[in-house]
Amino acid sequence: MNFHVITLFPEVCKAYTDASVLGRAQKTDKGKGAKMRGKKISVNYYNPRDFTKDKHKKIDDKPYGGGPGMVMQAHPILKAWQKAVGRKTKAIKQKKVKTLIMSPRGKQFTNSMAKKLAKKYDHIVLISGRYEGIDYRVNKALKAEEVSVGDYVLTGGELPALSIIDAVSRQVPGVLGTFESLEDERTTNGEVYTRPESIEFKNKKYTVPKVFLSGNHADIEKYRGR
Ligand code: SAH
Repeated sequence: MNFHVITLFPEVCKAYTDASVLGRAQKTDKGKGAKMRGKKISVNYYNPRDFTKDKHKKIDDKPYGGGPGMVMQAHPILKAWQKAVGRKTKAIKQKKVKTLIMSPRGKQFTNSMAKKLAKKYDHIVLISGRYEGIDYRVNKALKAEEVSVGDYVLTGGELPALSIIDAVSRQVPGVLGTFESLEDERTTNGEVYTRPESIEFKNKKYTVPKVFLSGNHADIEKYRGR
């Protein structure tokens, strides 16, 4: 799976995608058994400022028809998209490309959407807005889909794009290690414990429920609600 993020703040996003599980998924794994495992995902960044013709690298302008704030211009974003996936090559089959625009008015992103995206596409382009949003012709020209990560408004599309990359990546085979579960915890009561067996906080003791120390797996599964 190849992600392409169009954002004015690539360095902010990259810090997140280079860490932990997503960071590991972008590297070839030379671990256990010395068997080389391939990269599971790639995350590529494109800054609209690098695609503007303006000598001051301006990427926004006032909205037609008036109103507050500024709007991101279409041209730098369309150019960035072309750089990312616009080439007609064997490696980039256009029907395997999905373009998502981050928008608080978009379709609510869900885990089942994450599963579908992981299955159906090879390239996902995520366009992050800032200010009052993006010139609507980007939606039309790219036949993009607007997605929202929740019923609240953020200052930019970076966190939504990262949430989507994260949730989709978990669904790509091999991204999660053997010690990380895919959906397991969602069907259980979600209570997890680790050492030590007893902790103290504000003069009160908190101990791990006895059933977990019992070694009785049937009882443990029952407690977990499975
Ligand atoms: N007044 C504007 C606010 C834009 S918020 C409007 O009503 O659209 C700025 C950018 O943040 C948006 O272009 C979008 O890319 C992103 N954004 C904010 N909240 C979001 C959400 N809940 N889901 C996805 N993207 C969001």
